[in-house]
Amino acid sequence: MRQTLDFLLNSWLKVQDLTARERFAEHSAETFAAVLDTCERIAREKFAPFNRLADTQEPDFDGERVQLPQATHDATRAYAESGMLAAAQDYDAGGMQLPCVIEMAGNAFFSKSSVALAGYAMLTSGNASLLMAHGTDVQREVFARAEFAGRWFGTMCLSEPQAGSSLSDITTRAELEDEADALGPRYRLTGHKMWISGGDHEITENIVHLVLAKIPGPDGKLIAGTKGISLFIVPKWLVNANAELTGERNDVALAGLNHKLGFRGTTNCLLNFGEGRWTPGGRKGAIGYLVGQPGDGLRAMFHMMNEARIGVGLGAVMLGYAGYEASLEYARQRPQGRPLTAAGKDAASPQRRIIEHADVRRMLLAQKSYVEGGLALALYCARLVDELQTGDDKAQAQALLDVLIPIAKSWPSEWCLEANSLAIQVLGGAGYTRDFPVEQYWRDNRLNMIHEGTHGIQALDLLGRKVVQQGGASLAALAARVQLTIARAMQTDWAVQANQLAAALAQVGGATKKAWSTGQPEDALANAAPYMQAFGHTVLAWLWLDVALAVHDDSDFAQGKRAAARYFFAYELPKIGAWLDVVARREPLCRDIKPEYF
Ligand SMILES: Cc1cc2nc3c(=O)[nH]c(=O)nc-3n(C[C@H](O)[C@H](O)[C@H](O)COP(=O)(O)OP(=O)(O)OC[C@H]3O[C@@H](n4cnc5c(N)ncnc54)[C@H](O)[C@@H]3O)c2cc1C
Repeated sequence: MRQTLDFLLNSWLKVQDLTARERFAEHSAETFAAVLDTCERIAREKFAPFNRLADTQEPDFDGERVQLPQATHDATRAYAESGMLAAAQDYDAGGMQLPCVIEMAGNAFFSKSSVALAGYAMLTSGNASLLMAHGTDVQREVFARAEFAGRWFGTMCLSEPQAGSSLSDITTRAELEDEADALGPRYRLTGHKMWISGGDHEITENIVHLVLAKIPGPDGKLIAGTKGISLFIVPKWLVNANAELTGERNDVALAGLNHKLGFRGTTNCLLNFGEGRWTPGGRKGAIGYLVGQPGDGLRAMFHMMNEARIGVGLGAVMLGYAGYEASLEYARQRPQGRPLTAAGKDAASPQRRIIEHADVRRMLLAQKSYVEGGLALALYCARLVDELQTGDDKAQAQALLDVLIPIAKSWPSEWCLEANSLAIQVLGGAGYTRDFPVEQYWRDNRLNMIHEGTHGIQALDLLGRKVVQQGGASLAALAARVQLTIARAMQTDWAVQANQLAAALAQVGGATKKAWSTGQPEDALANAAPYMQAFGHTVLAWLWLDVALAVHDDSDFAQGKRAAARYFFAYELPKIGAWLDVVARREPLCRDIKPEYF
């Protein structure tokens, strides 16, 4: 994986060019490599050996405290000590001023080694980065600083039992108590937050919850819709403006842990805010400090959305990668069956390794094309985030990110999960047991189509908003990029694939128009998911073609890249025809079928 990562970063994305920018001037190819080396080492030593343990020794709540294996404490401490929590932050804030693409690449090692152990740190880094962007100076100094140092960990509390995809329906309530608290306008919160990752534990001395809640209007009623949503810092233990614990417990209670299919090493909690379990300041109600303006909570929460969604996609990629490598190693060693040639009919002849069978190679190539393609996608998008933040053409970067983010999140969630399924298949019966790691990778990966916006919601975002916004400007920006690759490829041995890609791009464009030709969202969006699949496969074909153009020698490594690219064009891209067919016809079946018919 490291060789592919280095190739994508250095030869394909040319990340060293970023050091010409003022913000990254103190970095070099060597400092970037050193960061990756450190992450790779810590992940190998502190995360990978405990991935299975974190799965089998599930978090346990004894009614008072959540118990976690010692390995979880050790791994998260090692991560914090590496400085990666503040990797992208300014030097002034104790950060390393790393480009997003390097931060993501470094984090990839942790996701691959143990996605569940890495969960706490990823949440904390996202939480603190949000506070750096939207908090007051005091909130940054008190909460974000302590999080970047790894003293306190963070959570994101959006979902409620009755409000998952539809966040406008949250009912957690925030009532003003003191406008002039040093930590920000102080409110009392009451409500229930469901599915909160890292919501309780004893790893750190405190937990900083970022909570979406509604401030009632003058009539005492909650404002309908997303406009009424505000954002609050709700610490588990109360603190003063010097970032010291006061010793008083806030009114946030762990109602219970969820027992999950995978990702078991990260606690997942139902939290009750303000139920009166504790009475800070002598009364019930969880104390929370407003971040930003009232009503601006969702915007603030989604400020880091690009990074969060690329991060989820990259996590899915790395789980796929882990399964691919495990199944590749197995296939190289497992003898089973004989060649289909005449020689193979001799039962006394030695069996061949299963990697010799064409069908096993098909499964390995499929995995390779999914996981390496997914890695290219995630890194490409992270590089675009750097363009957005420090590049010359921010508008272009924004347009491309707009259409690529739903793909960066959803495509690996679906296809690198499929890679995990194929890894199990390559191992045969062994793959279905807990003696091998591949079943856990599949279980861990199954989350990624669900959280951070479900698959269906990503598809609605893509076809319902992103490709049609500003008269289709974002889609046009992407098409222009794809055309550049096509033009380069036409001059090479890849002309056939270039023509195939041009046809696919035209097909996507045509289906987009036909889907929207009645102007009715119900018509267009009934087939949003197959549209997203076709769009994603077209994007991946483009990236594979671009990657193939960046390999120049005849090494096994280069030939492997070419083979994966050829696989994608031969076996995967043709699938888009079936997906786009229902989109372009505005097939009404799923929209019209009556619930009683099921
Ligand atoms: C392990 C885990 C960790 C999580 N961590 C966190 C966390 O840290 N913080 C947090 O706030 N949340 C977290 N979540 C919650 C997660 O974000 C939600 O589960 C997700 O948003 C979906 O909400 P839901 O479960 O209520 O499903 P629902 O919204 O009920 O969706 C159920 C199904 O209906 C579909 N659907 C819903 N609405 C529509 C629509 N309008 N059109 C078409 N289809 C639709 C969905 O796509 C989905 O397939 C976590 C969840 C899990 C499982």
